[in-house]
Amino acid sequence: MRCGECGTDFKESTRELFGETITLWTCPGCGEELVDAQELAEVQKRLLGARPERRRIVQVGNSLAVTLPRRIVDLLGLKKGDVTSISYDVEKKAFVVTIGTSSS
Ligand SMILES: [Zn+2]
Repeated sequence: MRCGECGTDFKESTRELFGETITLWTCPGCGEELVDAQELAEVQKRLLGARPERRRIVQVGNSLAVTLPRRIVDLLGLKKGDVTSISYDVEKKAFVVTIGTSSS
């Protein structure tokens, strides 16, 4: 497989990403990298679906808040000011935080 940028043959390599080893193709010529989208999606799914992390409710001004685990922030590329919507699932006794505004 040749690099679309410079025409050099890609070489298979591995890289640590969020504590997981993923396989990718690197161009020795220009440094272009290709990652198999399906493998990346599987790593993301595995990491996001990992066991729940214990979080304490904290006070922020007059509100109560729960902080987001760093791995989830990094995986989803979240940043301060991003819009979320939150609801509570009575049966599961679980908060559901949706990135962006909820459509329902
Ligand atoms: Zn290249």
